[in-house]
Amino acid sequence: MRVLIVEDEPLIARALKEGLEAEGYAVDHANRGDDGLWMATENSYDAIILDLMLPGMNGFVVCRTLREQGNTTPVMMLTAKDGDFDQAEGLDTGADDYVTKPFSLVVVTARLRALIRRGPAERPAVLKAGDLSLDPAERVCHRGAEEIELTPREFGLLRYLMHRRGESVSKRDLLSHVWSDDQLDDSVVQVYVGYLRRKIDEPYGRQAIETVRGHGYRLDPEGG
Ligand code: CA
Repeated sequence: MRVLIVEDEPLIARALKEGLEAEGYAVDHANRGDDGLWMATENSYDAIILDLMLPGMNGFVVCRTLREQGNTTPVMMLTAKDGDFDQAEGLDTGADDYVTKPFSLVVVTARLRALIRRGPAERPAVLKAGDLSLDPAERVCHRGAEEIELTPREFGLLRYLMHRRGESVSKRDLLSHVWSDDQLDDSVVQVYVGYLRRKIDEPYGRQAIETVRGHGYRLDPEGG
């Protein structure tokens, strides 16, 4: 079981990391919200422990962005103290559980076990475009019967294009929904679209991802 801790207070982060490692978890740690989001996007975790107040990007935004990307990893939100946090708001952004600081390690590990056992709360529907299919819950992609291996970023990109299949999607939109950073140079989108095409289109002589000149890309709802 691999867990990501996103927490900027060194003492709390260290206590959590050591406590969870003693329980047999593999633990990664990020100090900043934006770094945490990046790690959660690049790697696959069984659960994420996410502090609310973080430098770079707050926990609400991290969690909401993950959910928008189709990431259903269970999230436990840590909040500073009762009262400065609206539980309903936390749950609305897609957190699965919340724990108020100060907390005991015993409570956190017990609730983490329950969270992982329960798994992702909602299993999004399988997305289809012709014989191209993407299962966000299982994180697998198929062209016909053949499984295609995608990196998390490629998966996120294809998921978003499939979610909006038939529509012309701008590079800015892709940067903000797949990379969570619309300030990035949009050449990165071009590079990743190239990677995707080499996996889902070229080996099959297909053209599911169409270039919309001067704008972005469109996924053919028929799968190319
Ligand atoms: Ca904090």
